[in-house]
Amino acid sequence: MALRLYNTLSAKVEEFQPLDHGRVRMYACGPTVYDYGHIGNFRTFVAVDLLCRFLRQSGYDVRYVMNITDVDDKIIRNSARDGVTVQRYTAKYEKAFLEDSATLNIEPPTFVRATEHIPEMADFIARLQEKGIAYRTDDGSYYFRIAKFPAYGKLSKKDFAGMEDGARVDVDEYEKDSARDFALWKAPKPGEASWDTSIGPGRPGWHIECSVMSMEKLGPSFDLHAGGEDLIFPHHENEIAQSEALTGKQFARFWFHVRFLLVEGEKMSKSLGNFFTIRDLVLKGHKPSSIRWLLASVPYRNQLNFTFDGLKSAASSVEKLRNFRFRLTSAQFPAGANPAMTQLAGETIERMKGALDDDLNTAQAQAAIFDMVRSANAALDRGEVRKDDAQPLLAVLDKLDEIFGVLKDDDQPKMKAILDWARAEGREKDISPELLEIAGSSQLSDGDVNQKMSKMEAARKARDFKTSDALRAELVSAGIIVENTKEGVRWRRK
Ligand code: AMP
Ligand code: ZN
Repeated sequence: MALRLYNTLSAKVEEFQPLDHGRVRMYACGPTVYDYGHIGNFRTFVAVDLLCRFLRQSGYDVRYVMNITDVDDKIIRNSARDGVTVQRYTAKYEKAFLEDSATLNIEPPTFVRATEHIPEMADFIARLQEKGIAYRTDDGSYYFRIAKFPAYGKLSKKDFAGMEDGARVDVDEYEKDSARDFALWKAPKPGEASWDTSIGPGRPGWHIECSVMSMEKLGPSFDLHAGGEDLIFPHHENEIAQSEALTGKQFARFWFHVRFLLVEGEKMSKSLGNFFTIRDLVLKGHKPSSIRWLLASVPYRNQLNFTFDGLKSAASSVEKLRNFRFRLTSAQFPAGANPAMTQLAGETIERMKGALDDDLNTAQAQAAIFDMVRSANAALDRGEVRKDDAQPLLAVLDKLDEIFGVLKDDDQPKMKAILDWARAEGREKDISPELLEIAGSSQLSDGDVNQKMSKMEAARKARDFKTSDALRAELVSAGIIVENTKEGVRWRRK
């Protein structure tokens, strides 16, 4: 089966076929670097990361470009307010965005910065003007004449018939039903950053940035364009208008939009106190792997309601997977193979692929792996797992992790880095005892713990109780709970 994806443009689930055989060219609207990214932003970035990883796993050579919007209305306003240059203002948040993406194990796309493509944007606008699609106003701003692009509205399914020709809007984000000529280029205002270009001084509008950078990196027609659902109108509608009016070719073929995340059932907002950045959650003691697993757990077109209960259960899901892997790598099995296990592994691979092929149904893919873990754990308890079964079961976990990216043992150093950042920023009061416990006092990584556990077990089997007790004490003092269960010893963190 091939990948089937919902395409906002056709409003249907379609079979995904790239323009070039075996090669996918995709673009995602990246962050506007005027503040720290919140979990809603990262729901979208994680969803696009999952898509990209799955395309790669499916054998495609993927070229994935993401822009960094480092000039727009909000950035201009905030940098003028703080009396710093745009570059100075955005550098801090761009760095934070890259760090947060790494914290969530997002594989880095090819990044492009808006401020590094200003002359190209001016040229693009000049060419639209030559074609009579863009016009200049007396103050030196440029607008897109939407009456010249009859397909305007095809992505957002809005009917703009009867609109007033020449009515203009000069802000980047505007009302959902506003059919107005939109700004391509804004004339300089006192105290605002501006660039001298072939079309005069000023700065680009937000929409033109993405048209110019995506086509420069991926060509006039490419396979897929992604973003959060709020970008459908006006941002993506305007990108299509600018690009297709200029080239006469179809711009992006598939439009992939991620549904907005809610927090405890409500729209996230600073005034409601339910607004969280990735760093806020880590400061509360939550692991990056739990956050990623939770963000990935709901298929991208469904509503994801972020709750702290959900985050806790995500943590225990990841722990279950890691424990299962530990069990498979550390136990001694009798020689041979159990055909039921080989079959279970094969079926799980098929189920995971089938789920992800089905419009990236991450919930079903996660369910498939847990069914496998449940059955295999039961078989382990009954002593039915043989030496040659471990490898195929572990291979399923590896395949899962190529997409979900949560099994690598690296929460601790990441949390430690955020702890150090919080101290440097003077945010001591936000540091929870849970974070201190995980990142501060216990210096043991999961790998260290596993190694000590294996040594402890070996010592116990050799009846060297002095060594095994010493190792156990070491683990306990590092905040590790060692439990004896009927299938052997396991561990978890306090
Ligand atoms: P921004 O930095 O505001 O330009 O947003 C970056 C990305 O995050 C865009 O693709 C937005 O559509 C997306 N986004 C913003 N808020 C949310 C949310 N609550 N849920 C999901 N995606 C969001
Ligand atoms: Zn964009």
